[in-house]
Amino acid sequence: MKTVAKFWKPVNGKVECYLCPVGCELKDKQVGACGVRVNEGGKLFTYTYGSLISAAIDPVEKKPLFHFYPGHLTLTIATPGCNLHCKGCQNWEISQVPKGEVFENTFFTQTYVPPELVVEKAIEKGCKSISYSYSDPTIFVEYMIDVAKLAKEKGLKNIMVTAGYINPEPLEEIDKYMDAYSIDLKFFSDEAYRKYSKGRLEPVLETIKFVFERGKWLELTTLLVPKYLDEKQIRNIARWIAQKLAPWVPWHISRFFPYYKAQDLPPTPIEDLEKAYRIGKEEGLQYVYVGNLPGNKYESTYCPNCGNEVIGRKGYLITKIDLKDGKCGKCGYEIKGRF
Ligand code: SF4
Repeated sequence: MKTVAKFWKPVNGKVECYLCPVGCELKDKQVGACGVRVNEGGKLFTYTYGSLISAAIDPVEKKPLFHFYPGHLTLTIATPGCNLHCKGCQNWEISQVPKGEVFENTFFTQTYVPPELVVEKAIEKGCKSISYSYSDPTIFVEYMIDVAKLAKEKGLKNIMVTAGYINPEPLEEIDKYMDAYSIDLKFFSDEAYRKYSKGRLEPVLETIKFVFERGKWLELTTLLVPKYLDEKQIRNIARWIAQKLAPWVPWHISRFFPYYKAQDLPPTPIEDLEKAYRIGKEEGLQYVYVGNLPGNKYESTYCPNCGNEVIGRKGYLITKIDLKDGKCGKCGYEIKGRF
């Protein structure tokens, strides 16, 4: 549904959107880089308020969040569009909206799911939380805030799954309602961010630091994209997490498969995932997980003190939990998270 957007101001006869670091300055009828925000008559409009293109009930492990009420169900929603343009986007069919599509496709103007219905369905289906994901929820900020506000009032948790390419002011507003974040830290090179995603590294690091400093639950994910992410970057990511955040921040390293415009790249070799895991541990990270490789031994949570398997996983399934009041069932060491 089309509605007036937040986070913009008029500048020299144009409209400047300051929702994300792309910082589009749009002439009348011009569409932003995300494909869904438009200057019309000197006002910025979003075309995706409540235009749900995807809704599913997932285990929270799929976000991935491994230390946030393990095993609970989360209603996950998305609208079309994205402010990044990753070559290998898995959800490109919903995230990459061609310029001008919003004017031509009635989906945008005619689809509307009220926030009340999303919250009602989450409760009816036994979900503990609502996740904003699949595309990047940054670009449906107005809808996310309205759903999250209502969800919070009804006792549900809110989870933002994002690439973290957002400006501080909107993030501050969103953060009032969020309980947890799953953020991609894709590369540790501005050049790789620019070439692969049409983004930049620094704003993502700022978002991550903001969330961490607010004390919200945070887990990070790095997709090991061959050719764009080298060993040096992997080590720098792990070191940055351990030193600038904390060694207990969970880090998910995930296997890449070729999609969209990255079909020339191979899937991540398994030995590269194992090497990245070792690098994470060498840099002092306590919880390193290997994703997109079902059945591997690095899916479970081990106590950093005694090595006891405190949360066993097989894919997205929880096979065991050996925690007492958030502490290791064997030695009593505190496992960081929300349990
Ligand atoms: S949210 Fe969209 S319109 Fe706004 S600055 Fe980012 S890409 Fe441009």
